[in-house]
Amino acid sequence: MKNIYLDSAATTQLRQEVIDEMITVLNADYGNPSSTHSYGRSAKNVLETSRKLIAKLMGCSAQEIIFTTNATEGTNWILKGAVTDLKVKRIITTKIEHHATLYTVKHLQTAFGIEVDYVRILPSGAIDVTHLVELLSKEVATLVTLMHVNNEIGTVLDLEKVGRICHQHQALFHCDTVQSVGKTEINLSELHVDFIVASAHKFHGPKGAGFTYIKKGISLQPLLFGGKQEKGLRAGTEAVHQVVGMAKALELGILLLEEERSYIQDLKRYCADQFRLNFPEGKINGSDTFYNILNVVVPFSEEKTAMILFNLDMKGIAVSRGSACQSGSIKPSHVLAEILLEEDLKKPSLRISFSHYNTKEDIDVLMSALREFN
Ligand code: PLP
Repeated sequence: MKNIYLDSAATTQLRQEVIDEMITVLNADYGNPSSTHSYGRSAKNVLETSRKLIAKLMGCSAQEIIFTTNATEGTNWILKGAVTDLKVKRIITTKIEHHATLYTVKHLQTAFGIEVDYVRILPSGAIDVTHLVELLSKEVATLVTLMHVNNEIGTVLDLEKVGRICHQHQALFHCDTVQSVGKTEINLSELHVDFIVASAHKFHGPKGAGFTYIKKGISLQPLLFGGKQEKGLRAGTEAVHQVVGMAKALELGILLLEEERSYIQDLKRYCADQFRLNFPEGKINGSDTFYNILNVVVPFSEEKTAMILFNLDMKGIAVSRGSACQSGSIKPSHVLAEILLEEDLKKPSLRISFSHYNTKEDIDVLMSALREFN
């Protein structure tokens, strides 16, 4: 049985070049970057070279990049810091954000009594920009937090436009770019974005490495107190090999972007065509979605909902029902709940997400497994 991985929105396979680079650093640069001797200086040099590379690829300066373990950490830090340090009194978000955002916002609402407004979601899964503008017309210190690419349905935010709107209304803008960093062009120097977050494991890098961008001039209290690492903003000895792996993964992601995007786009198109052909009663969720995510309602009876992932897994096929943190539960996805009719919500939905490691044969196997399960 060939194992088939169609869950790249959950996490991705590491590129071999990334593993090689990490192993080199693990062997050669095991010094503590804070040590002043040659071992330390060498590790520090590796760390700062990675930071400069990431900053160059993202169109910002190295000082604006803070290394974290993942995006959840960055989002928690920024949203809490916005309220406690930047005196934000209201957060505007949507009900289809990742739980890293949603649960942090809920906590801030309870703990600090901040106002929370949710931008309406259109049936396509896109945000209602007119509603965002309406909400922003109220004069109160505001942070807007919206994701770039939705991790379940793949809808895409117009970063340029939304950034401009936030800027015009003097609102801070945090964008969860977890699904888009390394997979699309983002030039921070051309955008009105104050904060972004990323996790390396989403772009063929290692788990346990991420970065946060904080626009120059914005000052937050440290995420972790302790040593002077990360300009004292996130104390703790840096995981140099992880950071190097992240920088390499981002570099290759951007270098190979056009070629890989066109290959993946083609796979997604093939998958959507095959799905329509095999399951004419099925539905594709969301429109104008990102090139590596396809979310579908499979036209099976409700009773099959609980077993579909298990059944596919038994055949060696990995897909998701929603975000990875929710799969395994049969609670309907909070994202689909915003856009689907009650009757469709009860049916099985699948998030099929691709990478350049997939082939059309993978999709054929998935389709035939679904046919057998019906
Ligand atoms: N935001 C989005 C859009 C995601 O897809 C994820 C992971 O699924 C996260 C945030 C959280 O990322 P991590 O678990 O790497 O912190």
